[in-house]
Amino acid sequence: MKNNLPNNGMRRLLDGYRDFFNGNPARKGFCAIHAEQVACSQNPHSMIISCFDSRVCPEAIFNTHDGHVCVHRNMLNQVCKRDESMVASLRFAVDALKVQNIVILGHSDCNAVQKLKHLEDLPPEISAWLERSHTSYRGATLDEAVKNNVLDQLGHLAEIPFVAAAVREKRLNLEGLFFRIDNGRLERYDKNALAWYMVDTEPEHE
Ligand SMILES: [Zn+2]
Repeated sequence: MKNNLPNNGMRRLLDGYRDFFNGNPARKGFCAIHAEQVACSQNPHSMIISCFDSRVCPEAIFNTHDGHVCVHRNMLNQVCKRDESMVASLRFAVDALKVQNIVILGHSDCNAVQKLKHLEDLPPEISAWLERSHTSYRGATLDEAVKNNVLDQLGHLAEIPFVAAAVREKRLNLEGLFFRIDNGRLERYDKNALAWYMVDTEPEHE
């Protein structure tokens, strides 16, 4: 009975985040003996598109178990319609795995966003990739620029026809999150208020 609304995938992600923040990692003691639990199938509720920064590990931040989230990572956590790897993963996640959420996860101190300021100084392999993102450095601070990039990438995501169709049919929810590396706090974009707010870190059921 997966993916029937109301969407419980975001609740599970945020509950997992609170466990991460409060020091209750699910993966403590995780080892191959658990593999049989997921050997035959997967049932992910969400796909996370994250920057490839080594300090940002979505599975750890959301305290996930194997089989619960799909993660796609690249420099700048960007959604590029000409990136075949990204589009194929998205299509499989939406159509076959029927994820409830696609989350764009930006983070503080993002080198890739910082580099948007001076593309001309970069090696061509890097500048070519960053230019594909159809975004720019916008904001008074780096945090602000990262958040604006998350919103740009959410916009790109919503323009992909099969994603747009799933959103229209209320099978899919798009989310923007911002993770602070220096203190472990998480901000979520409120699509109705058009504003970011800090996710509560108190365990809900205590
Ligand atoms: Zn980054």
